[in-house]
Amino acid sequence: MTGCIFVVGLGPGNVKHITERAKEAIFESDCIIGFKTYVDLITELIEGKEVISSPMSEEVTRAQEAIELAQAGRKVAVISSGDAGVYGMAGLIYEVLAERDLKDVLVEIIPGISAINSCASLLGAPVMHDACTISLSDHLTPWETIAKRLHAAGDADFIIALYNPKSMKRTAQIEEAQAILLQYRSKDTPVGLVKGAYRENQKVEITTLGEMLTKEIGMLSTVIIGNSATFVFDNKMVTPRGYQRKYDLDSDVQTLKPHERLRKENEPWALHGGKA
Ligand code: SAH
Repeated sequence: MTGCIFVVGLGPGNVKHITERAKEAIFESDCIIGFKTYVDLITELIEGKEVISSPMSEEVTRAQEAIELAQAGRKVAVISSGDAGVYGMAGLIYEVLAERDLKDVLVEIIPGISAINSCASLLGAPVMHDACTISLSDHLTPWETIAKRLHAAGDADFIIALYNPKSMKRTAQIEEAQAILLQYRSKDTPVGLVKGAYRENQKVEITTLGEMLTKEIGMLSTVIIGNSATFVFDNKMVTPRGYQRKYDLDSDVQTLKPHERLRKENEPWALHGGKA
């Protein structure tokens, strides 16, 4: 029998948000490998299967184990929360394969809804424009690199989704992140805090960049920081896509047709003094 590895993103944590392909892959697998919290999210899908659940810190062992089982002919599902390719197990599986120069192990990466998307959906529409994700965990990335990216994202006016914002022991990073971003954005910038999106303990809060540290932020939270145009309407965070620059949103008569470009003074290169 040919073995294989399915690297499965489970989405935010509710069976309804797991894709059909992910369910199929879990169903086809005879062995499930993953961090206990994630395995617990899918107990109803894995009855009768071998489950290897291990602590968070043993990701490398999990990846090695998955590869060895697949080589022995087993069908293994390695599970991550959200999307397996976003701070998940997908990269590590390929890194171990590359390290061992193994090109014949079958791997299928199955996409899932990442926290930036699930959390945004609960906040309104904060990620309507150019956005980035930054993990504040400095376990695998030096803080200088993270700080540099915060400066760059702040300066470029990206909407920012902060993953791994804070843990019991790691509390300084979110404070430094706020201090960096306040150099580029107003203290009134809307910020969305989502804990345990689509899980039983879900908590959604809208605050500001200036106030956010007074609110609950933890391991299971994602922090979404608006750009300079993000506003709050009816307790929802909204980042304009730019329609209001082109259309009058409260009128039936429009001066520009859909295919017509914006006026020159609104072109980004015109704003920066470049040539159109
Ligand atoms: N692969 C995951 C991310 C893993 S890193 C994904 O694509 O979503 C772990 C971080 O993800 C957490 O610290 C938190 O910031 C975020 N996260 C994952 N699931 C979440 C959820 N249901 N609600 C809020 N944040 C979540």
